[in-house]
Amino acid sequence: MSRYEEFYRQSVDAPEAFWAEQARLIDWKTPPTQVLDASRPPFARWFVDGTTNLCHNAVDRHLAARGDQPALIFVSTETGTEKTYSFRELHAEVQRTAASLIALGVAKGDRVLIYMPMVPEAAFAMLACARIGAIHCVVFGGFASGSLAARIEDAEPKVVVSADAGSRGGKVIAYKPLLDEAIRISKHKPPAVLLTDRGLAPMALTAGRDHLAAELNLKHGGTEVPCTWLAATGISYTIYTSGTTGKPKGVQRDVGGYAVALAASMKHIFDGRPGETYFSTSDIGWVVGHSYIVYGPLIGGMATLMYEGLPTQGIDKQPDGGIWWRLVEKYKVTVMFSAPTAVRVLKKQDPALLKKYDLSSLRALFLAGEPLDEPTARWIAGGLGVPIIDNYWQTESGWPIITIANGVEQKPSKFGSPGVPMYGFRVKILHESTGEELTGANEKGVVVIEGPTPPGFMQTVWKDDKRFVDSYWKSIPGKMVYSTFDWGIRDEDGYFYILGRTDDVINVAGHRLGTREIEESISGHAGVAEVAVVGVADALKGQVAMAFVVPRDGGAVTNAGAALKLEGEIMKVVADQLGALARPARVRFVNGLPKTRSGKLLRRAIQAVCEQRDPGDLTTIDDPATLQQIKQLLSSD
Ligand code: AMP
Repeated sequence: MSRYEEFYRQSVDAPEAFWAEQARLIDWKTPPTQVLDASRPPFARWFVDGTTNLCHNAVDRHLAARGDQPALIFVSTETGTEKTYSFRELHAEVQRTAASLIALGVAKGDRVLIYMPMVPEAAFAMLACARIGAIHCVVFGGFASGSLAARIEDAEPKVVVSADAGSRGGKVIAYKPLLDEAIRISKHKPPAVLLTDRGLAPMALTAGRDHLAAELNLKHGGTEVPCTWLAATGISYTIYTSGTTGKPKGVQRDVGGYAVALAASMKHIFDGRPGETYFSTSDIGWVVGHSYIVYGPLIGGMATLMYEGLPTQGIDKQPDGGIWWRLVEKYKVTVMFSAPTAVRVLKKQDPALLKKYDLSSLRALFLAGEPLDEPTARWIAGGLGVPIIDNYWQTESGWPIITIANGVEQKPSKFGSPGVPMYGFRVKILHESTGEELTGANEKGVVVIEGPTPPGFMQTVWKDDKRFVDSYWKSIPGKMVYSTFDWGIRDEDGYFYILGRTDDVINVAGHRLGTREIEESISGHAGVAEVAVVGVADALKGQVAMAFVVPRDGGAVTNAGAALKLEGEIMKVVADQLGALARPARVRFVNGLPKTRSGKLLRRAIQAVCEQRDPGDLTTIDDPATLQQIKQLLSSD
């Protein structure tokens, strides 16, 4: 048995002993004596009688050894700001914010909704909540009033923490009017709003409700706010899942289990060491931002680099496709975390930019959030010369479910596979209608997790245990297992491959096809930069696949002859690789694909447009012109 296999076996055969050992990676006020309470499945309660605090573990406990070392490095290529906070400075900022929140009436268990751009004040607010036992609900800054209002109603916050504006690609996006409108339409009216004024957009203040952070900060300058010791099973935060329609689903996380899960992942998965720098290009509005911009690196004693801006603009606000690599060199980043979509953006830049900087500090690049296609993985692996590690997880899991734990044992990656199940996760592949376990190599089924789920995994849906059980644990007949709603296979070496959402599956003439498989095949064509495949209703075949391709050179978008030629070639690639059945009915060429700000393809919106249906809630769309172009293309058919 390899070292990792042994490690994994211990985690699933003797979870209590395993996690008791991992629990030593953090500080406890009261160390737990009972590691797991799984008496009420599918709920798992970890470190039941322990007390601890996330902010203590992220900030205070590092003061003695590394108080003057960098803790938070903020770089904004939108405002041309670059600023480093040491652990000691971070400690002071967090206490100031905590004092301001307390002054606004926030107490343990109260919710604080954070609607902020990528600025240090957002991290201060999250840590301040953790410090005093308030529950933070960070809402991605790209959401508009309607979505924000739904989240305000669900979370019922005592205070909303916000700012005058964010900025994207040099364009200022005023947040305050969006927030005012959200509060106007929400049934819950938060009694107080705490605002950071970045000087980007004018703000109209509502007397008695709105407070400027700068003014409260002055009052609470040197205030000491000690950490409130919390039950390990208490609530640290809720985060709303992306892509849900109707009522938002608040993924609820605990305190102690989350702290232990993150500390363990920093060691075993990310192999990040105290005193080093971690750079995640995500946003605090997403789970990756919670786990690996704010809490994980800091708990691990690392400096975290928080970045506001596009990957293609420099600190002087001029185009610079090498900005991230410049930062890796400057701050000696050892662990970097991004998303395949960002790498595909960079793929359009001059490859020489990858060689221009000294990237020797970098140990690995982790990518997550969506399938990592082989051409993209090969391109970035070749350019950087460090391991590219795909990791598969969900808002619900809080940390990677499937990846490679190089901190335990160096194991090779396989292109197209995120890797193997992480310790603590009993990942299985089940037949979707019989519930039977599929153990053979390359047998396709639903990826599920058997309980008890490990520390860090969601506790429940905020205020709705029933919804948690019904929506996640009851979809496989006859078995109470957590469904990821992803298709997957496991190869003969135990590596998993994720084949797309169970809800993205298309059915062509009675045959089931994963749009992801077709995309993978199409993106193998050298002329293709990006692709989305959707299933579109067809009178004859039930559904047919439609492919929308961003060509590497724009010719196919504007020139009908070039388009026809490339379409023919792409059809042939798919027919050759997957069979004629999977061949898309049409390949259309576009300038860009509709995505959320976090880079997820809005396949369902494309599909709706193809089927002349309403594309639904588009508040998270990054560039509405992409969907418009698809509409126009289809209407000219
Ligand atoms: P979210 O909760 O928004 O992060 O979305 C989670 C979903 O993103 C998963 O259920 C997968 O469908 C997809 N996903 C995340 N990471 C990966 C990955 N490494 N490979 C394939 N799909 C992924």
